[in-house]
Amino acid sequence: MSEKVKDPDTPDFEMPELIVLASSNPHKVEELRATLAPLNIGLKSSADFPGLDEVVEDAPTLQGNALKKAEYLYKMTGLPSLADDTGLEVDALDGRPGVYSARYAGEKASYEDNVQKLLREMKGQKDRKARFRTALVFMNPSGTFIFNGVCDGAIRSEKSGSGGFGYDPVFEPAGYSVTFAELDQDEKNAISHRGRAVQKFVDFLQSIPNAVK
Ligand code: IMP
Repeated sequence: MSEKVKDPDTPDFEMPELIVLASSNPHKVEELRATLAPLNIGLKSSADFPGLDEVVEDAPTLQGNALKKAEYLYKMTGLPSLADDTGLEVDALDGRPGVYSARYAGEKASYEDNVQKLLREMKGQKDRKARFRTALVFMNPSGTFIFNGVCDGAIRSEKSGSGGFGYDPVFEPAGYSVTFAELDQDEKNAISHRGRAVQKFVDFLQSIPNAVK
């Protein structure tokens, strides 16, 4: 372990060797594991810590929910913690489902229920513009850091593709003629809201020359 270097231009930042992700969604865990692997940072998820409570995502913003999840995980595990919250904003629906994307069709709604509700509400709509937004919060002994990612696109009038999860089969990213569900994981990661937020986090980690290892 190298010595801590004090430098007024760089934070006294402790480089994580292991990060815990506030999610047990296997899609998210795999997406993130692939991105962190080149940095030699291991990844665990909340599923590796039995007994944790489900954090109620009742904040009015994506960032508020992500902060709530990261704070709880950090308090319970004492390990560097990462949490994200994502919403799909549809212009013709005045930004809905937004922060309510997970429970758009009701509290216990499945991905399929939510997609079907979206397709119903968008029936006949000319303006199909939409975007995914992700707020990513990292909390460790050095502080709390927030990274945002956006992916613009459009809502299809029917489902296409079998990859990914959530609204992927009806979301066509801008500049593509396929849905997220028709891209492979690496292709989606390179342009997705969460991929972009995670890339900002990775750039941040790599930009700290005097980080304590
Ligand atoms: P959360 O951030 O996991 O709470 O995301 C809220 C909801 O947004 C999820 O239940 C999914 O329906 C949807 N969602 C999040 N990320 C994605 C994605 O990458 N593709 C499609 N849908 C997503």
